[in-house]
Amino acid sequence: MASQPDVMDKLVSLCKRRGFIFQSSEIYGGTGSVWDYGPLGVELKKNIKDRWWNAMVRSRDDIEGLDAAILMHPRTWEARGHVAGFVDPLVDCKTCKGRFRADKLEDARCPQKPSKQPGAHDACQLTEARNFNLMFKTYMGALEESASIVYLRPETAQGIFVNFLNVQQSMRQKVPFGIAQIGKAFRNEITQGNFIFRTREFEQMEMQFFVEPGTDMEWFEQWKQLRMEWHLALGLSPERLQFHQHGAGELAHYARAAFDVTFDFGGTLGFQEIEGVHNRGDFDLTQHQQFSSKKLEYYDQLNNKRYVPYVIETSVGADRVTLAALVNAYREESVEGEDEGRVVLGLHPSIAPIKAAIFPLTKKDGQPEMAKGILNDLRMAFPMDYDESGSIGKRYRRQDEVGTPFCITVDGQSTTDQTVTVRDRDTLAQDRIDASQLKSYLAAKLVG
Ligand code: ATP
Repeated sequence: MASQPDVMDKLVSLCKRRGFIFQSSEIYGGTGSVWDYGPLGVELKKNIKDRWWNAMVRSRDDIEGLDAAILMHPRTWEARGHVAGFVDPLVDCKTCKGRFRADKLEDARCPQKPSKQPGAHDACQLTEARNFNLMFKTYMGALEESASIVYLRPETAQGIFVNFLNVQQSMRQKVPFGIAQIGKAFRNEITQGNFIFRTREFEQMEMQFFVEPGTDMEWFEQWKQLRMEWHLALGLSPERLQFHQHGAGELAHYARAAFDVTFDFGGTLGFQEIEGVHNRGDFDLTQHQQFSSKKLEYYDQLNNKRYVPYVIETSVGADRVTLAALVNAYREESVEGEDEGRVVLGLHPSIAPIKAAIFPLTKKDGQPEMAKGILNDLRMAFPMDYDESGSIGKRYRRQDEVGTPFCITVDGQSTTDQTVTVRDRDTLAQDRIDASQLKSYLAAKLVG
């Protein structure tokens, strides 16, 4: 299948110029694979996280929210198998001193000959692959000794597993039920590049759904479908979304089934995982029982039986979905009757960082005063922007480029009959409506 165009370089530049995403510690030369979200980026990512929270927690009786700590007891990671096994195989090049993931060589470039992958250039001298642990290690307390080593969590899931009974009992939940959380995770990733696709500090939105053994495949299928529907409702194009089933070689030893939701990022990156849906069986709870010597069983009162539930996990990266939403939304198009084209971020209105911008057509005749009055009326309900500088065409372009779905203009007629025009980012159609109707007009257009 032909891949979509590569818009990554253009997006990186737009994101910096318009306050979405900056390189971390840029004035010191940057931190590798770490990024900061600027004023518009933080709104965009927050809107995506809110959509997830609403779909997973607020709208359901059978899922509870959680915000577990980043620092966990180090035994957690032994139980999970990450102290010994959270590793990537790495190769070094003796010629250029570069270090690459052995299983992702095709995604890397030889620093001396960027048209080739490492190992493919005559001068490359790659070593055998060695395992490299991806967890960031630090010390807790005053002493820097091995007894005080703790890790920055490389996934949010374990905070859920260790709280399984706390949540179930305090909220009087019955299996099947789930626990969801959004939080930071850290991995000392070696493969660099591709903007916020793979970063060393990122946010995960994870949900563990606890079910009775034997009902797990049914729930797995249900969650697989529900998660795909969520991505579609976010506005990601159907032709850019695809499932990828983990074959026998890719499946973790404990996993009973696993599918990735993949998104076509365009160019050479193409289809890549944005979310994993996994049937993890009873692996995690059993491991934690064994390592903590605490029972993590569920007591089914109705049928008077005890068991360790199986877990269906849905795990999605907030940053990766943010990148998918940006890539999906970016378009350049010509405008009828104008020489200059426009760049548009066709973001789903519910995730657009600014919902509406308001412009006085001129800086006189009471127009700025009226526009500011409307701004003050609306700003607590919707993130708004006010702009009175430059031609109206330029002001529209500035908003198109950051994905603002509506632009409201106060003109000569407005100050006499209290109406304004509202321009739609995508259709360019303009409605003239009563200024007093703006709140309900926008609310109706922004739902979903
Ligand atoms: P990959 O193979 O791409 O490294 P993974 O299979 O290790 O990913 P999981 O451990 O299943 O990923 O994590 C679930 C989700 O978390 C991924 O689908 C992705 O959206 C997100 N994620 C994982 N690692 C990163 C990262 N380094 N940067 C940004 N997001 C990440």
